[in-house]
Amino acid sequence: MTRHVIHGIGVSAGTASGPVVHVRPAPGFDPNEAPTTDATAASRRVTDALEQVATGLEARLAKASDHAKPVLQATAMMARDPGLVTAIDGKLGTGLGLTRAVHDAVEDYCAMFESLGGYMAERVTDLRDVRDRTICRLLGVAEPGVPDLRSPSVLAAHDLAPAETATLARDKVLGIVTSAGGPTSHTAILAAQLGIPAVVQAKGITDTPDGTIVALDGGVGEVVVDPSPADISQLSERARRRSAALAGSSGEGATYDGHKVALLANIGTAADARAAAAQDLEGSGLFRTEFLFLDRESAPTLDEQTATYTEVLRAFGTRRVVVRTLDAGADKPLPFADLGPEENPALGRRGLRLGMIREDLLDTQLKALAAAYRATGADIRVMAPMVGTVEEAEYFAAKVRAVGLPKVGVMVEVPAAALRADHLLSVVDFASLGTNDLQQYTMAADRMQGELATLLDPWQPALLQLVRSTCEGGRATGKPIGVCGEAGGDPLLALVLVGLGVSSLSMAPGKVSAVRASLRLHDLATCQQMAAYAVAARTAKDARNAVQALVHPQLLDLL
Ligand code: PEP
Ligand code: MG
Repeated sequence: MTRHVIHGIGVSAGTASGPVVHVRPAPGFDPNEAPTTDATAASRRVTDALEQVATGLEARLAKASDHAKPVLQATAMMARDPGLVTAIDGKLGTGLGLTRAVHDAVEDYCAMFESLGGYMAERVTDLRDVRDRTICRLLGVAEPGVPDLRSPSVLAAHDLAPAETATLARDKVLGIVTSAGGPTSHTAILAAQLGIPAVVQAKGITDTPDGTIVALDGGVGEVVVDPSPADISQLSERARRRSAALAGSSGEGATYDGHKVALLANIGTAADARAAAAQDLEGSGLFRTEFLFLDRESAPTLDEQTATYTEVLRAFGTRRVVVRTLDAGADKPLPFADLGPEENPALGRRGLRLGMIREDLLDTQLKALAAAYRATGADIRVMAPMVGTVEEAEYFAAKVRAVGLPKVGVMVEVPAAALRADHLLSVVDFASLGTNDLQQYTMAADRMQGELATLLDPWQPALLQLVRSTCEGGRATGKPIGVCGEAGGDPLLALVLVGLGVSSLSMAPGKVSAVRASLRLHDLATCQQMAAYAVAARTAKDARNAVQALVHPQLLDLL
């Protein structure tokens, strides 16, 4: 291969160089297999294969990190989902061969997940992982995935299944490069948590033969294939500068002139909470509780929820924990909360809208959170996803206060909420900007559509203008505004958000130190100037350039 550069999206900062090792691809279904004549016997074989897959995943639990365990368990649970077996049986009943039946049944499931968008759509990768492993078991070949790495390598793949990233030998994986995947995918989140430099959307990496040397920069999202000695030394210089810029980044988040900005972790499980709490950060700004509800036949009980919430609150001690109530779509695979199919699920009965229909789910969750609060006395703050009107905010606030929880807030993910933030904030205690969804609704661009990257650029001035509107609402009512979308973990954009008036930033724990170092380099007046330029800019590119012109030179080492 001759030297060339692949541009992707950096999702986990850091630099690495080494030989590429491709993840073993999945074989796909067997086009020549015999049709099913004995559906009962075929079903037994599929069930056995699924069980072997589940057992195989569980066998890796012992070696897995705390972050990884829930992923492996969730994927194993998917393999044991009786709904999946029923769906496969349906296909076998029509005479489809074994591997084709597994393939088609899983694709039906995936189509349903994908139509939901957001987190649910990202679970499609897990489901296809179960499919591929099951087909391999049925074909009697080795399961797809990461080969046993003998020497440190850069993993390349179309998209890495979370179960693969979950058990990566950290000392053998120098970096991760995928041609698909997005900045909010589970793989990206895990790579950031493991501290492995990663670039997604690097088109062309799959054509790079095994053993080719690549040099990657997970901050700027660049992969140099067959790098020159000059490329390599440039990269190590960057790595040296980055650790120098990060050195001494500790303690509370604050600008150069001491304006405080709480730096918080996004978490999804009790294991995440323990891992994040062990780090130098100020609490959690987003606990995505839906992790507890996924891949289950029935909703978790009051006791089970209370136990998990108590564990999460205990992990953070006196530090704040912002809990988001269940954020699931309407047409979804949660059998206990299925409201039937919808044409546009992202615009349908999701988030709080679902909670208002299935009050039993919301009430049980709030009761469990209140019990966990009474047991710990923690600094808990509870917020609702997808709030759009004052009535919705009032409805939620009344419920949260009725169970004795001390602080209630709303997520600002719908443009209406950003425009009317002063009115919404007059009935709650705080708001948190979910920039991932706010972006997709502002630009009318599905956040899962990699092709719409330009519209999904968080530097779009329209998004920043809505952040400003939300912060103006915060100032008018004296209520704090946080950010818990991916934008908050970008060391450059964080400056703009702070300049606009945001007082807390929540992100993957691994991103905290770079954001903290970035804040320390700039005073509040500079952040405000950056914010004014960014909002006034004509385009996302102009906004970024205008801000970059004002940065402290060392900031560039953190990107
Ligand atoms: C968001 O939308 O920005 C957010 C934080 O929520 P999620 O990514 O879970 O939808
Ligand atoms: Mg959201």
